[in-house]
Amino acid sequence: MPMPAAPDDPPKTPPTKLSAPARALRKLGLARAIDLALHLPMRYEDETRLVPIASLREGDTAQVQGVVRDSRIETRTRRQLVVRVADDSGELVLRLLHFYPTHQKTLAVGQCVRVRGEVRGGFLGREMVHPEFRAVAPDAPLPQALTPVYPSSAALPQAYLRKAVASGLARAPLDEILPPAALPPGLPPLRQALQLLHQPPPGTPLETIEDHSHPAWQRLKFEELLAQQLSQGQAQAARAQLRAPMLAQRTDGLAAKLLAALPFALTGAQQRVVAEIAADLALPQPMHRLLQGDVGSGKTVVAALAAAAAMDAGWQCALMAPTEILAEQHFRKLVGWLAPLGIRTAWLSGSRKGKARQKMVEQVASGEALLVVGTHAVIQQDVAFARLGLAVVDEQHRFGVAQRLALRHKLEEQLLEPHLLMMSATPIPRTLAMSYFADLAVSTLDELPPGRTPVLTKVFADDRRAQVVARIRDEVAQGRQVYWVCPLVEESEHLDLQNATATHAELSAALPGASVGLLHGRMKAADKAAVMAQFTAGTLQLLVATTVIEVGVDVPNASLMVVEHAERFGLAQLHQLRGRVGRGATASVCVLLYTGPLSATGKARLRSMAETNDGFEIARRDLEIRGPGEFMGARQSGDALLRFADLAADGALLLRARQVAPRLLREQPQTAAAQVERWLAGRAEYLKA
Ligand code: ADP
Ligand code: MG
Repeated sequence: MPMPAAPDDPPKTPPTKLSAPARALRKLGLARAIDLALHLPMRYEDETRLVPIASLREGDTAQVQGVVRDSRIETRTRRQLVVRVADDSGELVLRLLHFYPTHQKTLAVGQCVRVRGEVRGGFLGREMVHPEFRAVAPDAPLPQALTPVYPSSAALPQAYLRKAVASGLARAPLDEILPPAALPPGLPPLRQALQLLHQPPPGTPLETIEDHSHPAWQRLKFEELLAQQLSQGQAQAARAQLRAPMLAQRTDGLAAKLLAALPFALTGAQQRVVAEIAADLALPQPMHRLLQGDVGSGKTVVAALAAAAAMDAGWQCALMAPTEILAEQHFRKLVGWLAPLGIRTAWLSGSRKGKARQKMVEQVASGEALLVVGTHAVIQQDVAFARLGLAVVDEQHRFGVAQRLALRHKLEEQLLEPHLLMMSATPIPRTLAMSYFADLAVSTLDELPPGRTPVLTKVFADDRRAQVVARIRDEVAQGRQVYWVCPLVEESEHLDLQNATATHAELSAALPGASVGLLHGRMKAADKAAVMAQFTAGTLQLLVATTVIEVGVDVPNASLMVVEHAERFGLAQLHQLRGRVGRGATASVCVLLYTGPLSATGKARLRSMAETNDGFEIARRDLEIRGPGEFMGARQSGDALLRFADLAADGALLLRARQVAPRLLREQPQTAAAQVERWLAGRAEYLKA
């Protein structure tokens, strides 16, 4: 076995000449010594002990050492190498169905071998099929530590990886950089912690390594959490240096006029968050605020009031939403509110191309359009704002980090950053808010507009479909409207469409009196909008849709929603969907149809939907079940996720890191910078978004 190349050294041969395992190492991202040192075993094998052959029991995985007494190729059922190994206590048969001459050579009669594998009771007594084995000197010492088994790939043999990791661990700069007072008490030094995790001495309680409660694990988690807090602190300090336009409200300004023209009064919660945002906008630092509020809590009007403040001060406002339907709904609502007040709103989306698009882009660049609403199209290269003062991102978690950053950088040329308001109906759990979003101001709409009736949720197996269809018939007969949501078929838009089309046909046949519409992701934007408009106008009674209706759609007369294959959806997603009903005064029902058999967690998930209508509680359960990925937004942010710490389990360590970070930043900024560099390297930029 060749020694692995030291990955930190410049390659001595051109990269194309790298051995296959060396290339595989790089593919796994194990380039630097520190990367190797942090590549932790997934389990361990105990090679520190030899078991006498006579005491082997069936089912044990054990290591024995003995001398080969007999080695022969048998061809009874199929060709195989059958070897007898004996120690002082007894004899063991090794059986190899695939073997090479080198194997025969290692297992030649008279050879002393060390063998490790699972014991079976075979025809000839105890045997091991395809054990690991190697020739050893009879007095070869046993390893002093458990043998690590690392996550690897097919091209990367364990033995090679082990050597590479051991070498990386020895070379990695792991000196203690944190002042001891900063550390939680009782944790080992970093190098020692890693040493133990890579090579636990015999007798280490492996269960505490497996459940990550071992002090060595705690040390790693704390390091990582602290680095993250420090990075957040740095970002916050950097942001405090940035300048933004001051958008002070006038008492008789546009916002006041809009407020007076609204057909409703703001809820107490809306008044509160409007004031919080207004205070931020009046400051010369860019706002970085998340507005979270359950579906239907009325975030749009809050955004409109913020936009009014910006425009009043002569600055532009951009509002970006993740889907065309949602963006268009915002557009219509905002135009309805603001056009009477003399504001011109531009519309930018992927489907608007050519001359029409060019005209919009020009209006944005000249500053003629004060308000720009759209999808990702808003952040395309060629869209340059004359004076962007406020960017609003709806359903922010559905955008990638890079996209959110792009919006912030829209104004960079002018040395002023726009204020940023992010909105989400998926509330950020507290632990997550404290870690990734430590630097984010949060406003919460914790009150729904008056007159809403909570949605009743029922969970049915799919064999009760006929009953559900009968219920739809009733609703439609009473003049109500119904959504039927088809699931997204993973990796196949084509299948989605087939399913949705088939369901549309089935329901049209079952409900002869009703007009049934179909809405799916593959339709042209204009066609989608037309179907949506028909449903909004009440010409369609039933809308069969894939998840394009997930966010923002507002039809108060819809009182029943059926979600097919509900088990395939995330909880947050189901909650979003459910929010499409219960928008009017009638009591609404959401039926979650599932196709069994369901796992215990699958059942628990759907049950929690029936148990609570509280988006915060649902988000908490979702975090428990699925981890924080969903809240971080987009897959691109996978890199930014914690690697060692687990927010659901490590609240205490997180708290400690939060206490220590500000002081370290103040008193030892260089140490803080080194800590961030060691743990986050190139990822810090993403944590800022
Ligand atoms: P979301 O927070 O889910 O984005 P929307 O902003 O779409 O919610 O608001 C949902 C509906 O409630 C809209 O029709 C909106 O006009 C209406 N609405 C918002 N605020 C109030 C209020 N204070 N009183 C009555 N209706 C309101
Ligand atoms: Mg909304």
